[in-house]
Amino acid sequence: MGKQALLVIDMLEDFVGEDGILYIGEISQKVTQAVAAVIKEAREREIPVIYICDRHREDDAEFRMFPAHCVENTLGAEILKDIAPQPKDYIIPKRRYSAFFGTDLDATLRELGVTELILVGVCTNICVLYTAADARMLNYEVTVIKDAVASFDEEAHNFALKELETTLGAKIR
Ligand code: ZN
Repeated sequence: MGKQALLVIDMLEDFVGEDGILYIGEISQKVTQAVAAVIKEAREREIPVIYICDRHREDDAEFRMFPAHCVENTLGAEILKDIAPQPKDYIIPKRRYSAFFGTDLDATLRELGVTELILVGVCTNICVLYTAADARMLNYEVTVIKDAVASFDEEAHNFALKELETTLGAKIR
């Protein structure tokens, strides 16, 4: 078995905090608990924990599609306190859906010798899906923890899980 890393995707105030600008809804509580459990297990097994964090400038082009969210140096861009990172963890900011696009995630994983990624977080059909797509294009093995991913759109969530499994060859656990 290859070396694993856990990617905790966009567990930020603007998505999973109750007052978040793009709050995904009540499912947030359940997914946060599940993510916390996965993080705990990863720490016990000494698997590197990498927080992927949407972080935008005030005038980011993404705001032509979505309301302004996760603006740098605002509360909305902060990781949920319940699952706060520890000093050894990695934090990788991103400006687009994929955690690989324009970030140093791939270099970080290579330095760590990681070949297998475990994905948790939000949203299943947006940042989880497109991060998984790039991971697979780069030949990483991908496992998605079903109870630890969620979306504001349940139908899209279900579609994404199917796409992850059948088109991208990710394991759904
Ligand atoms: Zn964004």
